Amino acid sequence: MSNIKLFMFQSGTQYCKYQHIRMNQGVGESYEIPVSWFLLTHPDGCSLIDGGLAVEGLKNPRAYWGSSIEQFKPEMTEEQGCIEQLKRIGVAPKDISYVVLSHLHSDHTGAIGRFPHATHVVQRREYEYAFAPDWFTSGAYCRHDYDHPELKWLFLNGLSDDNYDLYGDGTLQFIFTPGHSPGHQSFLIRLPSGQNFTLAIDAAYTLDHYHDKALPGLMTSATDVAHSVQKLRQLTERNNAVLIPGHDPEEWKKNRLAPAYYS
Ligand SMILES: [Zn+2]
Repeated sequence: MSNIKLFMFQSGTQYCKYQHIRMNQGVGESYEIPVSWFLLTHPDGCSLIDGGLAVEGLKNPRAYWGSSIEQFKPEMTEEQGCIEQLKRIGVAPKDISYVVLSHLHSDHTGAIGRFPHATHVVQRREYEYAFAPDWFTSGAYCRHDYDHPELKWLFLNGLSDDNYDLYGDGTLQFIFTPGHSPGHQSFLIRLPSGQNFTLAIDAAYTLDHYHDKALPGLMTSATDVAHSVQKLRQLTERNNAVLIPGHDPEEWKKNRLAPAYYS
């Protein structure tokens, strides 16, 4: 029986260029973004939300992630992998009931297949797209991570599953936010204290994206990105929630990381 708690984790950073994050801005300037993921403990089973990069890639990043490492270069250690970080707060692989996936870009898929009892929850259209991505997004997908049909999967269906409530008590709701990728989803978390969070993930890389000052350097639909951001703002305001952008180096520093938690 676990109490409801939200833990925030970081698995290193990725080096990239400023324009990869904010489209057509700061061309050529270097930028470094945190790779974040989350654990929600709950009496009905714990959920991991994303999980950073797969540790298997660290020995030979080019062989594992391909030429995309030239644009997004991972900087992490094996100790920053999700299994090792969970171990440090006393959570074993058997304790995870759900691996919840915002989308299937490789800095979000490193947890898949590591938890023997887990159901993997993803949007069906994201899963299908990940097996045949367009040329301009293909570098972001790493098929070894998610090409595991033997795992337990739960597929959600776009707007018809919008506000999907995983536990049925409002603690974790899935918000369909396509645009950065075809089946991207963000999350609304409501904690017992009354504190609420919206995890934008890559629907808003930074506060600039959240405030309509930037489009992401990587996306499948700019129109969907704009609509999803608008939806996130409404949701965040209506729930008086704290917005956590997906890869904002300044905003991320404001959070309490594990072993600290929010409850
Ligand atoms: Zn992404």
